[in-house]
Amino acid sequence: MNEDAPHRTTTLYCVPSRDKCTTMNNLIPIINKLQDVFNAIGESPIDLPQIVVVGSQSSGKSSVLESIVGREFLPRGTGVVTRRPLVIQLYNTGQNEQNDEDAPKERDGEGAATSQEWGEFLHLPGQKFFDFNEIRNEIARETDRLTGKNKGISKQSINLKIFSPHVLTLSLIDLPGTTKVPVGDQPEDIEALIQGMCTDYIASPLSIILAVTAANTDLANSDALKMAKEVDPNGLRTIGVLTKLDLMDAGTDAMDMINGRVINLRRGFVGVVNRSQQAIKDAVTIRESLSSEAAFFENHPAYRTVASKMGIPFLSRMLNEMLMRHIRDCLPDLKSKITTMLIELDTELQHLGRPFAAQDRNGKGEQLLHLISTFATNFNDAIEGRARGTIEVNELYGGARVSYIFKDVFAKHIQCVDPFECLTDMDIRTAIRNATGTRASLFVPEISFELLVKDQIKRLEQPAQQCIDLVYDELQRVASQCESPEIERFSNLRDQIVDVVNNMLRNRLVPTQNMISNLVNIELAHINTSHPDFIGGSRAVAQLMERMHREQAAKERAERPTDALGGYEYGQGQNPPPPSSSGSGGGMFENLFKDLAPTKSSSGSGNGKGVVKLPQMPSTVRQPDSMTERERMEVDIIKSLIASYFSIVRKNIGDLVPKTVMHFLVNYAKEHVQSVLVQRLYRDSSLDELLRETDTVAQRRRNCSEVQGLLRRALEIVNEVRDFSTG
Ligand code: GDP
Ligand code: MG
Repeated sequence: MNEDAPHRTTTLYCVPSRDKCTTMNNLIPIINKLQDVFNAIGESPIDLPQIVVVGSQSSGKSSVLESIVGREFLPRGTGVVTRRPLVIQLYNTGQNEQNDEDAPKERDGEGAATSQEWGEFLHLPGQKFFDFNEIRNEIARETDRLTGKNKGISKQSINLKIFSPHVLTLSLIDLPGTTKVPVGDQPEDIEALIQGMCTDYIASPLSIILAVTAANTDLANSDALKMAKEVDPNGLRTIGVLTKLDLMDAGTDAMDMINGRVINLRRGFVGVVNRSQQAIKDAVTIRESLSSEAAFFENHPAYRTVASKMGIPFLSRMLNEMLMRHIRDCLPDLKSKITTMLIELDTELQHLGRPFAAQDRNGKGEQLLHLISTFATNFNDAIEGRARGTIEVNELYGGARVSYIFKDVFAKHIQCVDPFECLTDMDIRTAIRNATGTRASLFVPEISFELLVKDQIKRLEQPAQQCIDLVYDELQRVASQCESPEIERFSNLRDQIVDVVNNMLRNRLVPTQNMISNLVNIELAHINTSHPDFIGGSRAVAQLMERMHREQAAKERAERPTDALGGYEYGQGQNPPPPSSSGSGGGMFENLFKDLAPTKSSSGSGNGKGVVKLPQMPSTVRQPDSMTERERMEVDIIKSLIASYFSIVRKNIGDLVPKTVMHFLVNYAKEHVQSVLVQRLYRDSSLDELLRETDTVAQRRRNCSEVQGLLRRALEIVNEVRDFSTG
C-alpha cells in the first residue's frame, strides 16, 4: 500500500488515502454523483475548471499531464510532438464508487485499461479504446492525418473522452509547446500561431493554467509564465510547474525559483521530475517514476527540507484544492437552482394529478366530479371576472368581453340607428294621406304615425338578435379557454366537456331569441302615446309652431317688421301647450289645426258675411311634387313624433336586451353548467373512457417524478458537500 500512496493521491483518481486531501477525495465521488444526476436531467450543475498546460516545446507538458492522470497515453518525446490541441474530457462512469479499495489492482498494468475504463475519440465515434497504448497511437495518427508527418501544426483540436469510474468529470487540455523558429512544414508565424492557440484555451476564467517551465532553462524567459500573466495577471489560477529538476547542472538547484525569488507567483512553483526519454524507452511505469521522484526529493540536499511541497502528488493536491474551492463557491447557486427546479416540478406534478389504478372506481368518480366542478368554477370565474392565470394582460377576457358586447357594440350600434332611414318625407306624406282615407283631415291622422313608427321599431330586432349571437360566441370561447391543465390531461373529457357546454349554450339560443322577439313584439303591440317621455301631439305641434313662428317672424321682420304671425294663428292657451296635455284627450291631435285649417282653405274665413262657395272638384287629383305648407307641417309633426317615440323604444330595447341575454343565456349557463355537465358526463360506464390520460401526460408525469427523485438526491448531495466544507 505504501508505494501506492503517491499514485492514489492524483487529482483524478478518487482513491481514499492516508494523505491530507481526504476531504477532497470524498468530495470527488459526491461531485461525480451530482454530475450524474444533472446529466440525467440534461443539465450541467457545476462547470468544473479545465486544466490546461502551456509552456515551451519539450518542457514536459505532456509528461506532467500524464502523471496527473496516472495513465500513460500521451505521445511524448523530443522535438515537436504535440502538434494539435488535445482536449481530454474525463467522464466519471459512476460505477464502482464503493469498490475503490480494489481499484489500484485493476490499474496495475498502466498501459492497458481495464474493461471499466476506455477512451473514445470524437473523430472515431462509437469506437472504444480499451488499450491506452492504442489511444496514444491514435493521437499520433490523427495528428499526422491533419498536419502531415513533417512537424506541421494545426489549431484544430483532437477530442478524446476517457470514461472511468475513477476520474472526476472535467477537461484537461494538452497544447503544442511554444517555439520560435519554424521547422519542417511549420509556417513563418509559428510563434504567434501557437501563442494564439494557447491563449484561446487559457483565457477562459474556468481554466486552471499549469505554466510549465523546464528548470534547466531560464525562468525569466518562460513563455508559459508570460502567456499566463497576460490572461491571469493576478495569478489566481496559475500554478508554476518546474520540470526536469533532475537535469540541472550538478551543484545547482532551483530553490531560488521555487521560493519565488526569480519570479513571484501567487500560487507558487511546484518542482517535479518526470520520466526521462530513456526511462520511457525502458518502459518505466508512472508509478515507478512517482516513487523515484519522491526518492529524488527526499535524498536531494537542497530539496530535502521542502520535499513535501514537491512532486506530482503535491501538484495534484493543489489542483484538488482549487477544484474544491471552486465547487464550494458554486454550492449556494447550485442549491437554489435545485430548489427552484424542485418547486417547478412540484407544481407541474400537481397539475398532472395522480394516475389512477384501473379498478379505482370511487377514485375515478370523485376525480371526474372534481374536474367538472373545477371547469364550472373556471367558467363562472371567467364570466365574473375572477379568472386568473393564462390570460393575456393586454386584452379583455370572458365577462369583460360580454360587457363590451353590450356596451360598446350593441348599445352604440342601436344608438346610431336613424329613425328615418328608408323613410322619406314623401313616404310620410303619402302615409298620412292614405291613413286619412275619406275622413276629414282636420287633424294629422294618428294612424299614420303608428304605422310608420312600428316599421321603424321592427328594425331594432336584428341588432338585438345579433347581440345574442355575439354573446353566444363569447361563451363558447370562454368554455374552450377555461380548461385547467388538470383537465387537459384527459383529452376525451376535455372534448366532451366542451361539447356538452356548447350544446347547452345552443339549446339556450332559441328561448333567448324568442324572448328578444317578444320584446320587440311587445313594443309593437301597443304604441303607448301616454308614455311620460313621449313628446305627444300637442307638444309636437307647439314645437313646430314655435319654430315656424320664429322663421316667419324673421321673414316678416325683413319685409314688414310689425306683423308677427303671418297666415297662422294659435288658439288661446295653445302656445305653448302644457306637457301634460299630450295624450290626455281621446286622440293625440285633438284641438289641433282647428284654427289652422280654415286659415288655409279659404281666404274669406273669419268673415261671416260673405257667401261660402265650394270650389269645383277637378276631374283628376294628383299629389303635387312640392308639398303644401300644411303638408310640410304634418310631415314635420309626424317626424318629431316618430323620433320621440322611437327613442323611447330604443331605450327600452337597449336596456332590456342585455338583461334578457344575461338572464336567458349567460346566467343560465353559469348556474347550470355544473349540473348539466354532471348529468351528461357522470356515468359509471363512461368513467374509464373519460378519464383516460393521453400518453404524453403519463409520460410527462413519469419524467417529472423521475427528475424529482434525482433532484431530491442532488439536494441531499449538496447538503452533504456543505457539511464537508464547514467541517
Ligand atoms: P512537451 O513537449 O512539453 O509535451 O514535453 P514532453 O512531455 O513531450 O517531454 C519532452 C521530453 O522531455 C520527453 O522526452 C520527456 O521524457 C522529457 N522530460 C519531461 N520531463 C522530464 C523531467 O522532469 N526529467 C527528465 N529527465 N526528462 C523529462
Ligand atoms: Mg507535448
